[in-house]
This record gives sequence, C-alpha cells and structure tokens, in this order.
Amino acid sequence: MIKESQGRITEEFYALGNPGLPAYLLMGKSPVLFDSGMTFMGPLYLQDLKKYLGDPNRLTTLFLTHSHFDHVGSAPFLKRNIPRLKIAAGKSAADILKRPNAIQLIQSLSKPMEEKFKSQLGDAEVTFQGLDLDRALEDGEEIRLEDGTTIQVITTPGHTRDTVCYYIPRLKALVGGEAAGSFNRQFDVRPVFLSSYDDYLSSLEKLKNLKIDVLLLGHHYALTGDAQEMIPKAIEATRTFGQRIEDELKAAGGNQEVAVKRIFQEDYVEKKLIDQEERPFLINLAAQVKAIAGRKK
Ligand SMILES: [Zn+2]
Repeated sequence: MIKESQGRITEEFYALGNPGLPAYLLMGKSPVLFDSGMTFMGPLYLQDLKKYLGDPNRLTTLFLTHSHFDHVGSAPFLKRNIPRLKIAAGKSAADILKRPNAIQLIQSLSKPMEEKFKSQLGDAEVTFQGLDLDRALEDGEEIRLEDGTTIQVITTPGHTRDTVCYYIPRLKALVGGEAAGSFNRQFDVRPVFLSSYDDYLSSLEKLKNLKIDVLLLGHHYALTGDAQEMIPKAIEATRTFGQRIEDELKAAGGNQEVAVKRIFQEDYVEKKLIDQEERPFLINLAAQVKAIAGRKK
C-alpha cells in the first residue's frame, strides 16, 4: 500500500513536516529520526516532535541518508534546539558536510525557500553552517537502541556517493531514502542514480533480499504491506531508464545537453510525469545522463 508521507505511517513510524520533505520518526523508548529536510523545515519538524513526543528532548539520534540539502538542511537547527541529540550519517558524508564548497552549495540551494517562508520563520535561525557528525557509520554496522531495537547500516552509493539505507529487522522496515527509487505521478518507479548508474544497481541488489514490510522513501511516499515489491521494480526501472538515456545519447551523437532536453521535453513537459520543480529536476537529469555517458563498460 502506498501512503503519503504525512503523520502516522505505522504504529511505530510517523512522518514529520510535509510529504515532499518528510523526516521519519521512529517512536519507542529512545525515539530516533531519519533525515531532516531543507533548512526552512526545522521549526516545523520541531513542532511535530513536540506533538508526537511531548518533549522533543526525548529524541536521541538523527540518522541521515545522504548529504543533499533537502535531507540534511535542518539538522544543525535540530541540534541547536535539542542539545543532547546525536547526529549520525555514512562515513563519507562526514567529510562532505564540513567542506566549505558543500556548505555554500547547501546554503545557496536553501535560500529561495528561506526567503519564501521568511515571515513564518520569524527570528528562528535556520541557516546551514556546516554539520559535525557525532557518529560516522560503516557498512554493516548495527546500532542498538535502548529498547533492544537494532538499526543496520547498509551503504548504498549511486544516488550520491555517501548514501546509506537503514534497516530495522524487528519491524522489517527500510529507510530507503533515494536509493530505493522514487515515484512519478503515475506511480511508476523512477530511479535516481545521480553519482553512478552501476553503483545504484549494485546497491539495489543489496536491498533485494531484505524482508521489507515498511519502506520509507526519500520524498512524498511510504509503502506498507507489499513494500518489498518496490526493489525489483526499481531495478527494472533503473535498467530501462539507463537504456533509454543510452539510446538518446546515441541519437544525439553523444551530446548530453541534447539528450537531457529530449527527455525533459517528453517526461516533464508533454507527459507531465514529474512532481518536482523544473530546476532541480533538470540538474538531476543532467547528472543521470552524465552518469550514463561516463560509464565504464
Ligand atoms: Zn538526494
């Protein structure tokens, strides 16, 4: 079953914020959060934490799936407001999140929304000034929460080099971020391999054998029940889209810009398949075309 990422997903999982930029709260004795979207969302997440936990200070750890601005933006804000909060992410995200150029990029991508919601933000300080992780996670690592629940770290590069997924065996739940694909407006799976096509596929293969009853996607939706079916679909969609890009590149004589324009025209303009702003969609599509063009066979 596909559910919009808002409010209660299962007995244990709640989606905070809004469906486009969900932060997933795992309830329990020592509640933890997965991802914290763009900077301007910080106060909203905090408000939802109050709503679901009573006291936001009960939150123990924030786990990040990757270092994109729409997944880590409000982490520093949460840290400032919940001093004991520990922040964890994959090992390679640790370095990235301290780099001046990465910080600058996150700031510039966050600005338009900060401006747009200026009046709501009031004097809340949400600017992203870099992020020191408390814990850099390795592939296969297990984190044990106070109530005995374990969280397994699975490195899943391909969307970015630093992407990780989190698997909670007790709940058969996977925090898939963008490694598990996304949906277009017709609920077809759309792969999001930005850094590497081959890594993206290998990462999906790693997820294929997990038992998944709950799948929390990076944006808009969560799946329950037959959630596991998403992974083979994502593998197929990745292959199909990879082939399509290859064909477009061939037709365009290897010109990446032309290939991007043609796919944009067909999917975004004509078929209106994509529920995303034009600029980030084009940036991502260009990265996908580049990933295929630069593929070593
Ligand atoms: Zn991303």
